[in-house]
Amino acid sequence: MNKNELPIVVIGAGLGGLGAACQLALSGEKVLLLEKHNVPGGFATSFVRGRFEFEGALHALAEVGTEEHPLSLYDFFKDLGVLSKIEFKKPTDLCRSVFYDGLDITFPNERDTYFEKLIELFPNEKKGINKYRDIVFKVREGFNYVAAKEGKVSPLGILMKHPYLARVGGLTLSDVFDRCFKNQKLRTVASQLWGYEGLPPSKVNAMYYFLVLVALLDDAVFPVGRSHALSNIIVECFEKLGGTIKYNALVNRIIVKEGKVTGVELLNGEKYPCKAIISNVNPICTTMKMLPRENVSDLYKKRVYAPDIGPSAFTVYLGLNATPKDLGITHFEIFMNSTYNLEEQYLSTLRIERPKYLLASCYNIMYEDISPPGTSQVVLTILQDGKSWYTVSPYLYHRKKDEMANHMIDMAEDLLYPNLRESIETAEAATPLTYYHYSKSLNGAIYGYKQDLLDSPMLRLNSKGPIPGLYFAGAWVNLGGGYSTSITSGRMAAGMYLEEREKGGV
Ligand SMILES: Cc1cc2nc3c(=O)[nH]c(=O)nc-3n(C[C@H](O)[C@H](O)[C@H](O)COP(=O)(O)OP(=O)(O)OC[C@H]3O[C@@H](n4cnc5c(N)ncnc54)[C@H](O)[C@@H]3O)c2cc1C
Repeated sequence: MNKNELPIVVIGAGLGGLGAACQLALSGEKVLLLEKHNVPGGFATSFVRGRFEFEGALHALAEVGTEEHPLSLYDFFKDLGVLSKIEFKKPTDLCRSVFYDGLDITFPNERDTYFEKLIELFPNEKKGINKYRDIVFKVREGFNYVAAKEGKVSPLGILMKHPYLARVGGLTLSDVFDRCFKNQKLRTVASQLWGYEGLPPSKVNAMYYFLVLVALLDDAVFPVGRSHALSNIIVECFEKLGGTIKYNALVNRIIVKEGKVTGVELLNGEKYPCKAIISNVNPICTTMKMLPRENVSDLYKKRVYAPDIGPSAFTVYLGLNATPKDLGITHFEIFMNSTYNLEEQYLSTLRIERPKYLLASCYNIMYEDISPPGTSQVVLTILQDGKSWYTVSPYLYHRKKDEMANHMIDMAEDLLYPNLRESIETAEAATPLTYYHYSKSLNGAIYGYKQDLLDSPMLRLNSKGPIPGLYFAGAWVNLGGGYSTSITSGRMAAGMYLEEREKGGV
């Protein structure tokens, strides 16, 4: 068969893989998408327990926007046909934050009013908060500039036009706070979204934090039908464009001839020849397990092993036989803090112990009939270091899992909902091992590598693989973890392949 007739294989139908596959299909390429599971989406999925269908992961989908205010994913979804098949709901606020001492704040989800809220709470820090706001938006503008240039921009060009991007690229969130304000309480309040990045202000790259903050202030949404509907619709659109998806297809090996990609082999021995591969599987497994070792340079091996792996999560999914009103639940996203000390909050994520920072999400606030009439769906989430769960003996695993779920329900009862336990009809918990089991993301990492200074968006591993014809897509590369960033990462991998092919490199 002529090489040009062969498909491009995308391994993994997580959002990174779906982004890549759809971008290629939109460009008229023949694409074969191979997914080990029997449903698409990776983390972007839902599951049923009793009479409840639980959202598996999503709280807020960023970067879609509206017809009047389109964001970076809007046109992509429109071209695919996704927008006409799904309805998105917008939350009424960014989040509510409650603290053990009674401080209780609701943050608006608009650019100006968010910062006005901070000034209202800390009027003496007005000057510093305004300076902070300017930095946040300048970084975002710089990011938009680079995105609009589709990566074709020189470091000097960035420095001249958007110096803040380069300056903040090397700073943690704490470094930026140091330049704006010292008040510890303000720093904690302004860092409430740190769980979305996986690292506290002392460690997280400020750029990641600002990109998420602005994305959530700019029209973040939730799909009616949950992530499962979103992933299914993306697949439907992909197939309509001529793409092929194969489920229960676990790729075991990438076949290489003369240093170049020539195909893949499934665990069951089936082989699929191809001209290029985009892998949505983490770069460590793709490089060290799927590729013949001799094809990977020592330098590249160091590159995939060098960054630390980011956090996983522990989640308790609760089906409650009471309405949000019965339970006194008024907000979709509530961050609960049992200390103002963010280092303590972070340290508790590294151990299997009662958490100090927890997110309680009631999906019925997003749309009422997400669970049967008279019930509600509440999900409690904390970050957890995946490694700490790998060392739990199999005999203790279920006990530890129950203990942690109980700690989280206790915390939610102590800080906000005293009678939560009484209303539980169905409960399920997911540990980092659960997340690893379903996604094969190492350590169950939900954002890929840690999003710290060494792995800022500018320094993170990009889509280019270790041999010609192999590319990466998803949370581990390019822009880091998250729904929109993983989809965009896939689109970037597809773009890189198309460009290299045009230049004759593949
Ligand atoms: C509890 C939780 C809450 C979250 N909340 C949010 C949120 O509110 N907003 C947000 O933006 N992000 C959120 N995230 C993060 C987000 O879900 C992830 O960063 C993102 O979905 C990662 O997508 P991915 O494509 O990189 O990887 P994955 O979703 O891990 O997809 C990888 C795919 O590859 C498949 N695969 C693996 N190995 C093979 C193989 N050998 N052969 C074939 N297929 C294979 C897997 O089955 C999977 O389908 C959350 C995550 C979790 C777990």
